[in-house]
Amino acid sequence: MLRWIDVLTFAKYGNPEPPRRVEKTEAEWAAELPPARFRVLRQHATEPPYRNAYCRSYEPGEYQCAGCGTPLFDSTTKYHAISGWPSFTQPAARGAIQYHFDESHNMQRVEVRCNVCGGHLGHVFPDGPAPAGLRYCINSESLVRVGEDEIPS
Ligand SMILES: [Zn+2]
Repeated sequence: MLRWIDVLTFAKYGNPEPPRRVEKTEAEWAAELPPARFRVLRQHATEPPYRNAYCRSYEPGEYQCAGCGTPLFDSTTKYHAISGWPSFTQPAARGAIQYHFDESHNMQRVEVRCNVCGGHLGHVFPDGPAPAGLRYCINSESLVRVGEDEIPS
């Protein structure tokens, strides 16, 4: 289980090894991704609160990166954070996510990106529920949920 000290350690000293790497030019991403996904994943945009696909959705399944298909979060870690964006307590795997200090907008935050393709996902905060205390606040546009019966085994 990851805790805030792990998040800070990754952001300060280096991120976990990804399971694989996907590297494309921004022109390739722009050609491949729908505009709303491109703005979030590649240009670090934030989608509107509440008016997004997964904010209030609690169907079972696996949330994959909309850029590269890497499993990022599981529905069993999703919870209602009253933030307006889908929120999770833990990543699907330690190596799935990378962490970066983000001082934009006059705030001190930790940005989270897909560790395979580098796509912007959202931020993680230390005000989540026990026991880990983490809140991954994620843009729906960066995710694709795959239902339990659709996940290839
Ligand atoms: Zn990705």
